[in-house]
Amino acid sequence: MSPSVKEKIKKIVGGKNYTDSPEDKLTYSYDATPLFSQLPEAIVFPENEQQISELMRLANQEKFPVVPRGSGTGLSGGAVPVEDSLLIVMTKWDRILEIDSSNLTALVEPGVITGVLQNEVEKLNLFYPPDPGSINVCTIGGNVANNAGGLRGLKYGVTKNYVLGVEMILPNGELLKTGGKNMKDVAGYNLRDFIVGSEGTLGIFTKILLKLLPIPSTSITMLAYFEHLNDAAKAVSGIISAHITPSMMEFLDNTTIRCVEEYTHIGLPVNSEAILLIEVDGRGSVVGEDADIIMNILKKNNSSFIKSAKDTLEANSLKTARRTAFSALARQRPTAILEDATVPRSELPLIIEKVKEAARKFDVTFGNFGHAGDGNIHPTCLTDERDSAEINRAHKAFEFIFNEAVKLGGTITGEHGTGLAKKQFLESVAGLPGLDMMKKIKAAMDENNILNPGKIFSLSPKCEVLFPPTLKNHG
Ligand SMILES: Cc1cc2nc3c(=O)[nH]c(=O)nc-3n(C[C@H](O)[C@H](O)[C@H](O)COP(=O)(O)OP(=O)(O)OC[C@H]3O[C@@H](n4cnc5c(N)ncnc54)[C@H](O)[C@@H]3O)c2cc1C
Repeated sequence: MSPSVKEKIKKIVGGKNYTDSPEDKLTYSYDATPLFSQLPEAIVFPENEQQISELMRLANQEKFPVVPRGSGTGLSGGAVPVEDSLLIVMTKWDRILEIDSSNLTALVEPGVITGVLQNEVEKLNLFYPPDPGSINVCTIGGNVANNAGGLRGLKYGVTKNYVLGVEMILPNGELLKTGGKNMKDVAGYNLRDFIVGSEGTLGIFTKILLKLLPIPSTSITMLAYFEHLNDAAKAVSGIISAHITPSMMEFLDNTTIRCVEEYTHIGLPVNSEAILLIEVDGRGSVVGEDADIIMNILKKNNSSFIKSAKDTLEANSLKTARRTAFSALARQRPTAILEDATVPRSELPLIIEKVKEAARKFDVTFGNFGHAGDGNIHPTCLTDERDSAEINRAHKAFEFIFNEAVKLGGTITGEHGTGLAKKQFLESVAGLPGLDMMKKIKAAMDENNILNPGKIFSLSPKCEVLFPPTLKNHG
């Protein structure tokens, strides 16, 4: 990127919203995905749609790539800059523009922190269910771009189930508005749903209209310990087969339990092979009845101890323990690679076994936890990026796990996205015709391949990132 192009960028956003200092470039050179890193050429914090439009037009004229970024908590490298790129950071777009209690909607800017929105709507007895583990730091824009899931996905679905409308700047600089407050709208192609999960490759969101629900009046949170992981997996299948849909059904394996206990000191059973954290919610007596049935199923499947949180405080501390799983694991070794395979729920015991097999076969350590009710596991490899032999074995272990997940009818990512980290596996789930269709859509919407190029798949060899990736260009 030439100095004159940088001057033009600065002129569009103003000097105070522009930086290319070495410190800032380094700070924004990575997201939460280990091993991927690239310095951007410049970083901007645009203030309005007009500025983003002008930046996109300039990028097309001068042919430099643009990468949108929220809080940078992504786990597939979606917000990692590409070579010679301009990074557009959206965290200052943090206003909740409207909470409409009559239509049960919230209109927000993309930089609103997900947890902040949840707290604000709860004050009005409303509920925004998607709750990624990163809820206190990630942005709604990043959630929509990655179609983020979370702990409540089992009953309430994921981000896409709550997006009613989107305004975004297209790669050519035009403003696209799609969706709205109508609960029904089948006019034309469903662009809104198509955009959710586009990982910053098809447009930069500037406003997002979200669906809200009435807040559930009652909830019961339970914790069950198991001596054998297989029993926990069977209990999960038993609960689903009993046609009960908990709002949360999370599992932690022994490595994760030990790390979380060492971190939080809340009295988790460090000798148990697995724990299940289960929550049921809703209205009235049904919640208690569901909890009783679940407790029976847990007992039948040899749970050694079951406890029910006595109040909201205790329930929250149990949930917080689960939310710290990744951070607790990450303290153990210099590099924690967290992955995201998903299988049909009935195959959960098998994929858990496959993770264990991968650890043995490739001589690496995994902590495993995840959204058991969704069949979505997060095998986390505890490793050290300075040890290239170990990193190589870790990549082979993940390749093994992804292949096994796909063989079981599963997928390579349930909620973190494809980004850079998993694009080499995309064809195995999308198929060649599916992948070709995605590339054609990208080429049609982004003629010069300006917006977040090389993410999800590569159109141009320049954006190719090698697997295993190497740290590069730290200046
Ligand atoms: C501890 C931890 C726990 C996590 N738990 C979960 C979990 O339970 N479930 C889950 O799904 N994910 C989880 N994640 C992953 C991550 O938090 C989510 O993917 C989140 O949606 C990313 O939001 P962000 O604001 O950090 O986006 P970023 O990481 O900044 O960006 C993510 C993607 O969104 C694009 N993007 C960002 N803003 C915009 C915008 N305004 N317009 C267009 N594109 C944009 C970027 O280009 C990138 O491709 C976790 C991460 C961590 C570190």
